[in-house]
Amino acid sequence: MNQAVSNNLSFKEKNRERNRRYRERNATVISERHKKWVEENREKRLEHQRRYRQKNRELLNRKNKEYNQINSDMRKEYTKRYYLENKDKVYAANALWRKNNPEAYRLIASAARARRRAHKYNTRIGRIDWKAIHERSGMICGICHGPIVGDFDYDHIIPLAKGGPHVTENIQLAHPSCNRAKRDTINYRPQREIVRSN
Ligand SMILES: [Zn+2]
Repeated sequence: MNQAVSNNLSFKEKNRERNRRYRERNATVISERHKKWVEENREKRLEHQRRYRQKNRELLNRKNKEYNQINSDMRKEYTKRYYLENKDKVYAANALWRKNNPEAYRLIASAARARRRAHKYNTRIGRIDWKAIHERSGMICGICHGPIVGDFDYDHIIPLAKGGPHVTENIQLAHPSCNRAKRDTINYRPQREIVRSN
């Protein structure tokens, strides 16, 4: 290393050290100044960001997609590994959640059951609006038209086994007993004696 470079380096180092000390001593002032600058240039920055996004929309979309894919894979992998390494803990936590949230759990379990059956019958599966189904039903059994108190099933009006699709329009609330009695019948008419609340 020749003398000039060495001097230069030590000058740079000294300078860096001086700057570091200055920043340390004036941290508050610098941070305040930076905040003020950000505040004053907010509009300009937003405009710049907006233009950048517009110009690079495709690239950003692709990057976003890639990121989401990798992230989702990682998350799945992580969840799976965590589950395998902590089965007892996960099981206990799930059991506790089920115990504390019986209503929510019943909903999730019924929905999952309906979806599994739809897969089994290889029928059309749409995005289900469960809230709409509940609002439409008003907690009245779609089969016997009696009020539902407590447990209920999601009944496919045209049964999956008869080619009915798994879509919002084809799903209604029903007593589990009514649902069992109806099975895969189309236009099922319940008999009075088998109709009860559960
Ligand atoms: Zn019923």
